Amino acid sequence: MTPAAHGPVVAENKIIDGALLAERIKSDVAEQVRALEERGITPGLSVVLVGDDPASAVYVGSKERTCIELGMHGETIRQPATISQAELLAIVDRLNDDPSVHGILVQMPLPKHIDSDAVVRRIRPDKDVDGFHPVNVGKLLIGEKDGFAPCTPSGVLYMLQAYGVQTAGADCVIIGRSNIVGKPMASLMVQPGVDATVTVCHSRTRDLARHTRRADILIVAAGRAEMVTGDMIQPGAVVVDVGMNRIPDATKRSGTRLVGDVAFASAREVASMITPVPGGVGKMTIAMLMANTARAAAQLREVRS
Ligand code: NAD
Repeated sequence: MTPAAHGPVVAENKIIDGALLAERIKSDVAEQVRALEERGITPGLSVVLVGDDPASAVYVGSKERTCIELGMHGETIRQPATISQAELLAIVDRLNDDPSVHGILVQMPLPKHIDSDAVVRRIRPDKDVDGFHPVNVGKLLIGEKDGFAPCTPSGVLYMLQAYGVQTAGADCVIIGRSNIVGKPMASLMVQPGVDATVTVCHSRTRDLARHTRRADILIVAAGRAEMVTGDMIQPGAVVVDVGMNRIPDATKRSGTRLVGDVAFASAREVASMITPVPGGVGKMTIAMLMANTARAAAQLREVRS
């Protein structure tokens, strides 16, 4: 799924609009699903949810709903937090062998008694639409296109490309080195065709602002509410805020409000473009998951026929 077919989007009031792009990706996926239907294939995503973490339940619910909205099969397999490792692996094995399942996702975090790495490694790489299996991590680094890149960084790259951001030769500074966001983001940005010069900062980085101030593209995924302020940003830089943090807010009925890792108001003053929170990167993640699932269905069919 690339934005090339649509022509560049123009940012209004400097805002990179994740909701708009997510709708566009979903409509492209729905079209792909219709084409697959004509070949007798209905893409299917199975999500395994262990325990009753409310945030995970919300994410999983919206994944299932979006699948159905786009004409795909979406199922959630709910299991108690007491499930054993062997039982969970048996579920993954069953999904690996089921030809109607093209994408498998085990929602993280898992209970402490379960070895999450072992579960991820058990998923067939060609059904690993989250892109966390070591085979897919390797394919991303090597630049093999038939693997799956994690959905959040894929969504960020899509945003940059859709808004015509010049990545070739750009200084791209990423804050965060997690396996879910920071590291795969760096792998994507450095690939030929994207061609950015990448710096990855993390909790042990000395003088963070020294790095952020020379970024043409600044991608922040630290999980620290509003840690990047306007004075840390180079004038004209493109700022992508991956962070999602709940902070207390007495004016809200819930008593909290969602903010990013970037102090939005001061950052927008200096940036040329910026993603808001909410309405930015968060909207892209599920859209990219749908795109990966449709591609998994198309690729699996090719392997079998
Ligand atoms: P994580 O906790 O696994 O990693 C955070 C990274 O930030 C670490 O590598 C750490 O070294 C670095 N870091 C922390 N404090 C720092 C500091 N003061 N200076 C420099 N580096 C620092 O988190 P994650 O899973 O990568 O997620 C990061 C953020 O993105 C979180 O807010 C998370 O909620 C959000 N997130 C959003 C989406 C989405 O769909 N929008 C998806 C995944 C994660």
